[in-house]
Amino acid sequence: MPRNPRALLFDLDDTLYPLRRFRLSGFAAVSRHVARFYGADERQAFKLLVAASRGPRRGKELDLLIAQFDLKLPVTELVRIVRGHDPVLRIPPATQQALRLLGRSWQLAVVTNGIPAIQAAKVRALGLDTLVDTVVYAADYGSGEGKPDREPFLEALRRLDVRPAQAIAIGDDEFADIFGATRCGLRTIQTREWRTGPRGRVSICADAVVNHISEVPAMADCILPGRLASHAA
Ligand SMILES: [Mg+2]
Repeated sequence: MPRNPRALLFDLDDTLYPLRRFRLSGFAAVSRHVARFYGADERQAFKLLVAASRGPRRGKELDLLIAQFDLKLPVTELVRIVRGHDPVLRIPPATQQALRLLGRSWQLAVVTNGIPAIQAAKVRALGLDTLVDTVVYAADYGSGEGKPDREPFLEALRRLDVRPAQAIAIGDDEFADIFGATRCGLRTIQTREWRTGPRGRVSICADAVVNHISEVPAMADCILPGRLASHAA
C-alpha cells in the first residue's frame, strides 16, 4: 500500500517552468562560446539570438548567428553547446509552492519528453528532484518516442504504486500530455500559463484547463477527492 494512493504526473517544459528560460540560458552559453573561440562580441551575439527567437527566424537562431557573424563553424557545434551546457534556471515560486502543498497529500512525478540527459540537467537546475517522488524520462520507455506513448505514464504509476484511475496528468500539450494520459485511463488537467496561442490549443479531452499552476491543488482535489487528504494535510 503506497503512502498516498493518489498521484499527480506533471509534464516539465512549459508546465512547471517556462521553456523559454532554458532557450535563453542556451543562447547565453552559445554567445560565450563564440566570443571565446571565434572573437565575436558576446553581447551582440546574445542580442541577435534573442531577437531572432521572437521573429520569423525562430528555430533558426543559430544558423542566423553563423551567417550574420560570418563564423566558420558548423551549426552542429553550437547545437552541442546548447545541449551540453549546465542550464541556469530558477523554479518559479508559484511552482515550488504548489508542489510543496501537493506533496502533502499526493504522490508526485515528473514525466518528461526530450533527450534524457538534457531533461535531467533541467530537473537538477530547477531543484525538482527534491520536490517530487520520481522523474520519468519518457524516451527511455516504450517506443523511445516519448509521450503520447503509454509506457512513460505507466512507468510513473508503477514506481508510485498507483492505479491509473487514481492519477491525474498535468501538462500543456494537448497531444503528448492530455491525449497520451487519457489513453492510459488517467484524468487530466491542461495548463496554459506559458504555452498559449495556436501552439497551446485547448484539448477537447482535458478534464479541466487552468491558466496558472496555483489553481492545480484545488482543481486536482475536485477531480479526485482524497479520503486521506484531510489527514495528511
Ligand atoms: Mg510541455
